[in-house]
Amino acid sequence: MKTDSKYPRLRLFIAGRWIDGAMGDGTEVLDPARGDVIGVMPHASKSQLDEALDSAESAFRAWRSVSPYDRAMILLRAAALIRARAEDLAWLITTELGKPLAEARLEVETAASIFAWDAEEGRRAYGRVIPSRQPGVRQIVVREPVGPIAAFAPWNAPLITPSRKISGALAAGCSVVIKPAEETPACTLALAAILEEAGLPAGTLNVVTGNPAEISKYLISSPLIKGVTFTGSTAVGKALAAEAALGMKRMISELGGHAPVLIFPEIDVEALAVSAAKAKFRNAGQVCTSPTRFFVHESIHARFAEAFAEAAGRIQVGDGRDPTTQMGPLAHARRLSSIEEFVDDARDRGIAVATGGGRIGNRGFFFQPTLLADAGDDSLAMNVEPFGPLAVTQPFGSTQEAIRLANRLPFGLAAYAFTHDSRISAQVAEEVESGNVIINHWQASLPETPFGGLKDSGQGREGGIEGLEAFQTVKYVSQA
Ligand code: NAD
Repeated sequence: MKTDSKYPRLRLFIAGRWIDGAMGDGTEVLDPARGDVIGVMPHASKSQLDEALDSAESAFRAWRSVSPYDRAMILLRAAALIRARAEDLAWLITTELGKPLAEARLEVETAASIFAWDAEEGRRAYGRVIPSRQPGVRQIVVREPVGPIAAFAPWNAPLITPSRKISGALAAGCSVVIKPAEETPACTLALAAILEEAGLPAGTLNVVTGNPAEISKYLISSPLIKGVTFTGSTAVGKALAAEAALGMKRMISELGGHAPVLIFPEIDVEALAVSAAKAKFRNAGQVCTSPTRFFVHESIHARFAEAFAEAAGRIQVGDGRDPTTQMGPLAHARRLSSIEEFVDDARDRGIAVATGGGRIGNRGFFFQPTLLADAGDDSLAMNVEPFGPLAVTQPFGSTQEAIRLANRLPFGLAAYAFTHDSRISAQVAEEVESGNVIINHWQASLPETPFGGLKDSGQGREGGIEGLEAFQTVKYVSQA
């Protein structure tokens, strides 16, 4: 039963047509603030997946020949339409995912900005001329689109992540079959409707939904798919990368994080604690770059933990549609039980729960902003990414020790450091193993900057020039 008639009827978008799923009863979509069913996500049958693959293949042949200028015009129109529909899209994000409307509006603006960046960058897919060793030989390098792309987007940034994948691929001249997350399908479908209206030829973008493991296996093993892009957990990312490798397909993956934050002496501890709590609990901590492991110099650790706990305790948790809400619910019930496990583990080990630690109410998926202070290396939260509203602190003595702690885990997506000492910041920038090292602020990515991980945090980059190159291949042509 729908709680809000504004929530759209969910369909598949294949070969330019909006169709119902031909398999089973579908999956219920919940409003995480109320726990109510708001819609039913259709399941695509194998023949519908085949139709999506065939249409992506034939549309690719036409789309790769459309000039980068004309492709850019369509993507810029899409950016303008995203901005024009900002309020509706923000409402959809908040309804499906739960984040406060103010954060959802920022997400919409970022999505528009991603389309605009990729549109322009696609026009700059420059090649080069390599001077020849012999007179009369012309040697050139050109960048070409990889081919039809299978894309898999998670729920935590339901407009930004599909936008990065769709706009990067389209700007490079690729076609796309995308599977959005089961929790947030309407956001991706809204993007598809906008691209259709912007003039994207039928079949160039297809949206399919259903059982994630079955769909990803089917799409990735198809010889028509030439590249795969996935954002989600490290375990799933590795499994998909193995499947892609069997077909020698381009793989871009953006996986788990568990970002360290190194806080050195002589900073304004109280002010930093307030901004750290704001950064941590954005989107209820369900962000792959969420600052989580706070390593604080021993001279200021206690003050920082206290001020952070105080700031966290003041955060207004509630329905994202309420303008006074600063943090919404978690996306689904699995996240609630997962965060409870981290707290239980801490309590078993005698680690202080400095603030939070429990579920709020029994309707919707709300959890308190939580801090585990002075947690040891062996605690669950120091090793496994919580992907929720939970942070941990630990004191350190030397710069070397702080860097060792930051690098201790197999992740390397985002790392933050706060220091006024330029020698320390240079050392952190050089020695911390992370795709993104952010010093003295919290902005880990922008449409124009490359974003991605080292180690188990993934391969390839989204955003920046690199985000487009991810969907391009290089051809060398030599002519005598
Ligand atoms: P989950 O692994 O059940 O699902 C995460 C996402 O992966 C979902 O969107 C799902 O549709 C997709 N997925 C799962 N199995 C898949 C498969 N075989 N093929 C294709 N897609 C598949 O986890 P969850 O409980 O929803 O999320 C929590 C974990 O996921 C966290 O630990 C976090 O590390 C990770 N995650 C990471 C990001 C990110 O931005 N890197 C985003 C969301 C979730």
